Amino acid sequence: MEKHEFKSESKKLLDLMINSIYTNKDIFLRELISNASDALDKLYYRSLTDDKVSVSKDDLKIDLAFDKDEKTITISDNGIGMTKEELAENLGTIAKSGTLDFKDNMSKEDKLDVIGQFGVGFYSAFMVADKITVESKSIDSKEAYIWESKGVDGYSIDKGTKKDNGTIITLHLKENDSEFAYDKYLDEYELKNLVKKYSDYISFPINMMVTHNELKDEKKHEYEEHKELETLNSMVPIWKRDPKDVSDADYENFYMDKFGDFDKPLKRITSSVEGVTSYKALLFIPGHAPADYYNPNYEKGLALYSNGVMIMEKCADLLPDYFSFVKGIVDSEDLPLNISRETLQESKSLSLIAKNIEGKIRRELEDMLKDDRATYEEFFKTFGVQLKYGVYNNFGMDKEKLQDLVMFYSAEHEKLITLKEYVSEMKEGQEKIYFASGSSISKINSMPQVEQVRDKEYDILYLTDYVDEFCVTAISKYEEKEFQNIASGELDLETEEEKKETEKVNKKSKDLLKAMKYLIPDIDEVRFTNKLKSHPVCLTSKGDVSIEMQKVFDAMPNDLGIKAKTILEINEKHPISKKLKELYKNDDKTDFNNYTKILYSEACIIAGLPIDNPTEISDLICDVISK
Ligand code: ADP
Repeated sequence: MEKHEFKSESKKLLDLMINSIYTNKDIFLRELISNASDALDKLYYRSLTDDKVSVSKDDLKIDLAFDKDEKTITISDNGIGMTKEELAENLGTIAKSGTLDFKDNMSKEDKLDVIGQFGVGFYSAFMVADKITVESKSIDSKEAYIWESKGVDGYSIDKGTKKDNGTIITLHLKENDSEFAYDKYLDEYELKNLVKKYSDYISFPINMMVTHNELKDEKKHEYEEHKELETLNSMVPIWKRDPKDVSDADYENFYMDKFGDFDKPLKRITSSVEGVTSYKALLFIPGHAPADYYNPNYEKGLALYSNGVMIMEKCADLLPDYFSFVKGIVDSEDLPLNISRETLQESKSLSLIAKNIEGKIRRELEDMLKDDRATYEEFFKTFGVQLKYGVYNNFGMDKEKLQDLVMFYSAEHEKLITLKEYVSEMKEGQEKIYFASGSSISKINSMPQVEQVRDKEYDILYLTDYVDEFCVTAISKYEEKEFQNIASGELDLETEEEKKETEKVNKKSKDLLKAMKYLIPDIDEVRFTNKLKSHPVCLTSKGDVSIEMQKVFDAMPNDLGIKAKTILEINEKHPISKKLKELYKNDDKTDFNNYTKILYSEACIIAGLPIDNPTEISDLICDVISK
C-alpha cells in the first residue's frame, strides 16, 4: 500500500471541509452524483469517437445504496473510471488552478469565500464522512485501485479487485454529535428527497433499492415489505423542460452544481429556437467573477450537447470574448454526435447558433439596463470591463453592438450613466462629450481642469478603469458627438475674447516660454493659460495619446516607448507668473532654472506621472523655501 500526503493547499481546503463550517451539508450527494454523471458522459462520448470502446447508452447508470449497520453510503457508476495516476491527481489535489488566499484567524465569511472560490467538489464528502473509500477501474487500465483517506493526514492507494470499469465511492459517515445527526442520511426517504431536489435532471438513471409495502391480507390489514430497484430521478435535462415547469430554485441548484458556484446566478437566460438549426440554450450570468476569471488560463465557453449527450465541455466558439463570463449549455439536434473538434469549428450550424446566442445575450442585457437598472449596475461593476474591452478589441469591430451597454461615472449624477444618457442631457451650445481619466474619482475631482468645465455646467464622464480611455477612443464619436479629454491642451472652452487675450500674453512672453521649454526637454510646449482659476500649473497633452494612455503603455511588460505629447500650462493670473517674468527679466538664471523645474515637477505630480529626479527636485524646493 502506498501512502501519500495531500498537497498543502488541498490540505487546508480539506480542513475547512472537515471542520464543516458550511451549513448545507446535503450538497455532498449532489457533488458526487454530478461527478458520476460526468464520468458516464465521458465514457459515452469516448465510445462515439473510439472504435475500441463500445457502450450502450441504456446500460449507463448510477447506483445509490446505504447500510445502516456499517453506517455507509455508496455511490457507484459504470463510467470512465480513474487510473491509479488519475486517482492521485484528481482526488489528491485541487484540480482548479489559481491560488487560495488562506489567512490566519479567518472569519466564517472568509472561509466560506475560500471554499466558494473553489467550488465544493469531491471534498465536500468530508463534511459528512470521516473516511472515504474510492475503488475505481479506468477504461484504459487493466487494474482497479482503491484510494482511501481519513482526512487531512493523507491518503493511501492500494490494488483493488473491481473487474468492470467505473467507480464506487463509499462514505463512512461521522458519528452524530450535538450539532448534527449524520445518520439522517441512512434513510431511504431522505436520500430519495435529496436526489429529487438536487439531481433530478441528471440524464442517467440514479437507482436505489426502495422499500414497498404490499397488502398481503386485506382483512387483517397485513402488509408485506419488499424491496425494488427504483429510478429516483426524472432524467429529463433541465434545459429540455418547459421553463414554466421549472422553479427558480431548480435552475439555481442546477447552475450551482454544474458550474461549481457557491452563489446563485445574477441572471438566467433561456432560449428555444426552431429553424434551419434548432437548439435549446440555458445560460447564466454569474453574480461574481469566477475564481479563475482573471487567470490567463481561464477558458470561456458553453457546454455543448447533441440531443442530450455532451459532446464538448467548453465550446469556446459559442461565445465572443466580451461575453466570456457567461456560463451555460447549448443542446442541438442538428449537430452530429461524432463530430470532431476540428469539423465542429467549421460547422455552419455552430456559427449560426453562436451568432444567435450573442444577440440573445446582448438583448437580455439591454432589457436589464432598461427595466432593472440596479441589477444591471451590479452586473456592470463585475463584468463591465469585459464589455469595454470588447468595444476596442478587434479594431473596434464590435463597438456598435456594445456602446450602449457601457457606462461611465458621471460628475453630475455621481453614479454610472450611459452615453445615450450623457448626450441627451448635453447643454445648449455643448458640442462634445467631456471626459477625464484618473485612477480614482477623488483624484479626478481634484484635477485643475475639472473646474472650468463644471463651471459651464457641462457634465464630465470620469474614466477610472485602465481600458476606459481606449474604449472611448475606439468609439470616437457617439451620436455625432466627439469625445474630448479635459486634460488635453486642445480643450477649447474659452470665448473668442479670452482666446485672443491668452494668445497676446503668450506672444509677449515668447522668449521666456522658449527658455523654459529648453530647460525641460521631455515637454512639447510651455504656455500661459487662463483656464486654471486658482491652480498654478497643469500638464495637458495634444494628439492621440493622452497622459493616462501613456501610463497604461508604460505599465506594459514590453515598453513600446509610446509617449504623450505634453504641454506645461501655467496660470497667467497666478502670482507665480509674475515671479517667473521678473526672474527672466532680471536674468536670474539659477532661480529661473530652479523655478521651472519645480513647476514642471508639480504638474507631473498632479498628472500622476513619476518624477525622474525626485532627490534633485526635493533639494531645489528646500533651497527655495529656506531662502
Ligand atoms: P470537479 O468535478 O469540479 O472537477 P471534484 O473535486 O469533484 O472536482 O473532482 C475532481 C476530479 O476527479 C474530477 O474532475 C474527475 O476527473 C475525477 N472524478 C471524480 N469523481 C469521479 C468519478 N465518479 N468517476 C471518474 N472520475 C471522477
